[in-house]
Amino acid sequence: MVIDLTLLPHGTNPVWSPMASPASKKKKKRVNVRTPEVMELVQNEVAVHYESSIVEKFRARDGVVTIGNTTVRLAKQFGFCYGVERAIDLAYASRRVFPDNRIFLIGEIIHNPEVNGQLEEMNIVSLPWQEMDEQYDDLGPDDVVIVPAFGAPISFMEKVDSQGCKTVDTTCGDVMKVWRRVRGYAKNGITSIIHGKAGHEETRATASRAMGEDGKGHYLVVLTLDDVDFLCDYLRNGGDRDEFLKRFEGSTSEGFDPERDLIKVGVANQTTMLKSETEEIQNRVKVAVQDRDGDDENFQVFDTICGATQERQDALFEMLKESMDMLLVVGGYNSSNTTHLVEIGEQELPTFFIRGSRCITSLEEIVHFDLHDRTERSSYTDALSGKETVHIGITAGASCPNNLIENTILKVFELRGISGEEVRSALEV
Ligand code: SF4
Repeated sequence: MVIDLTLLPHGTNPVWSPMASPASKKKKKRVNVRTPEVMELVQNEVAVHYESSIVEKFRARDGVVTIGNTTVRLAKQFGFCYGVERAIDLAYASRRVFPDNRIFLIGEIIHNPEVNGQLEEMNIVSLPWQEMDEQYDDLGPDDVVIVPAFGAPISFMEKVDSQGCKTVDTTCGDVMKVWRRVRGYAKNGITSIIHGKAGHEETRATASRAMGEDGKGHYLVVLTLDDVDFLCDYLRNGGDRDEFLKRFEGSTSEGFDPERDLIKVGVANQTTMLKSETEEIQNRVKVAVQDRDGDDENFQVFDTICGATQERQDALFEMLKESMDMLLVVGGYNSSNTTHLVEIGEQELPTFFIRGSRCITSLEEIVHFDLHDRTERSSYTDALSGKETVHIGITAGASCPNNLIENTILKVFELRGISGEEVRSALEV
């Protein structure tokens, strides 16, 4: 039973309606919980939990506020994207519509510990997303299962359906666009080359769709330019099949054979990758196919970076034209799109990837996630304390709520000797 909370028109009471599922060919039921009453309550709850009047006032001032000797600048685009907002609304609505049912979530709704913690408090229980375990066998028709914004692999969807659960699917439309593309590749005998992280929820979900309707399609996930150069060398010159499979262990469809499955290739990407890198990867694969075949007839490409990711990257590039002392990037450490904002920032200035304001422990010390050794560490900087006047940039990934950004703004000012009250009164001017 799949419940799409968005499909029926507003203003109707929750109703069940039968529809056929292409995946299982069983009758499924959808329910509309987007009644004005439910959505009003949900949006109020979401606003209380995640919105920030201070951030809105920053936006009204073009993102820049100077108080005394301290300037804080926000990127023009940052924080929650439309897909994340929708997924959170639907998760909250699920609890409203099913107050007494068990509600489960496949993995995390988004990559933000604060938001996931809030759902746990609503007794929405996270299920494993890497492998299904016995908890999936225990699901039943009265249980509600929420599919996160990243989507879930076909096998998970089929399992939940076979248990007869009420499924609330919050998969972002931009992710589903990628699925359409890779399914199309499979239909035409084209192997999907997916630029993404093989262990990321979205890429796992996409990879399962790259197998096509009949499950006979193929895919290869590449992450780095080194991966792509290895692939391109194989495309041009062939190579050792076992070495290839060892290199891409865990990143290919089952039974992948580089001799057989790299004749026709189509590139797609996880929606949250770094655009410049994805373009480079597309180009390198295309040139390798041309070198091998003399033309690019066996190459296809479709850029599937989502609009929200793109806007946040573009806004950061724009902000980096300003002279700043330090950049703070706020978000969950496992958030792909946030990671790429950090990569962009650290090319230009001292950049710290923080979960929230508590990471700024003093004027000198910041606890942050180091992308290069994948650990949280403390670093010492004089960016906040070393000069009479300072200029701090702040941005945040698509899964970061505004209240965390507000706390970060206030912490920066507080450490510079400017109280929250002074910030609020300065913003009232
Ligand atoms: S980051 Fe992009 S793909 Fe992911 S939920 Fe947001 S809009 Fe959708």
